[in-house]
Amino acid sequence: MFPEAIEALTRACESRWQNPSSLYREAGEAKQLLEDARTELADWLGIDEPERVLFTSGATESNNIVFRSHAEKLVVASEIEHPSVREPAAAGHAKFVEVDREGRADLESLASLLAGGDVSLVSLMAANNETGVIQPWREARALAQGVGVRFHCDAAQLVGKGDAEFLGECDWVTGSAHKFGGPKGVGFLVIPEDCEVSGASIGGPQEFGMRAGTENYPGIASMLAALNRAQQLLSGTGAIAKARDGFEARIRSEIPKSRVCGEGAERLWNTSMLVLPAHRNTKWLTRLSRRGFQVSTGSACSSGKGNPSHVMQAMGLDFDEMGRVLRISGGWETAESDWEALGDALVEIFEEMESG
Ligand code: PLP
Repeated sequence: MFPEAIEALTRACESRWQNPSSLYREAGEAKQLLEDARTELADWLGIDEPERVLFTSGATESNNIVFRSHAEKLVVASEIEHPSVREPAAAGHAKFVEVDREGRADLESLASLLAGGDVSLVSLMAANNETGVIQPWREARALAQGVGVRFHCDAAQLVGKGDAEFLGECDWVTGSAHKFGGPKGVGFLVIPEDCEVSGASIGGPQEFGMRAGTENYPGIASMLAALNRAQQLLSGTGAIAKARDGFEARIRSEIPKSRVCGEGAERLWNTSMLVLPAHRNTKWLTRLSRRGFQVSTGSACSSGKGNPSHVMQAMGLDFDEMGRVLRISGGWETAESDWEALGDALVEIFEEMESG
């Protein structure tokens, strides 16, 4: 979390702890601050109606609401969506858009599914959580809206980390604070104009009667503080991407036959998905962990289940390759020296395992 976000959270917990829906004066002030935060987020997204922004507990909840609102109807999503999109989509009537070898959604596949008619929603994430590959969400939005179909963008990985211009033109948008330096357990969902969302929680009048439950004002204040900080730091992320690219080039040259997924595509500046030439990724992970590096073997959500990642499958990796994938995510504070130290560690571990 950004220090600014921690400070905003602490401050709001200390002085704005009231229930924003209560009637006494201080609660009214907290409610006003909450509405100011909603307006600020709507402005940032370029949305004129702040009522279109609902605060939620994060991207999983937001995505679930979107698909519950389209139950019984045909939805189209990409093969590489986060499980919080894929599973609710697949629980209903869904068709999936293919991706190319770089992990980019194929717009021709989308266009042909739309041409089949009857589609009520298209959903494409802005950037993939495993590869960091930026998706053609603006083009997909134009294709869907061009034939009168609503468009949802799970922008959890893009908000605060990349170019979000025109995000507010989507009918539905998902965001999550902990992906951009804010706290866990708070996020947002943009809903279409003139839409009464059903399928979120019931049992209270909060969020315009569409999502019951006491508002998490401290979390929301902290999310906005994080978004502001992330926006300020955006211009410096090119340098982090360069350090990451340097790391990848070194790995490719010093660990023969290793490769980088999605390398030929535009990617987020913080993500690197490596396919190593030998040894199971869990072995690499344990040795890196002993050296103090916290890396992943895939997305945390699918690795916990022990299933091969659907993203890697969609990108055409075979079973053996999937067992040799490491996913590395940096942060705003990740320096060139950190990427170099990780490169040293990987090369050392490789030599160690090859000789052992
Ligand atoms: N969507 C994407 C693209 C994600 O990367 C994640 C988190 O990993 C989620 C949804 C779920 O987010 P949350 O943890 O806020 O529920």
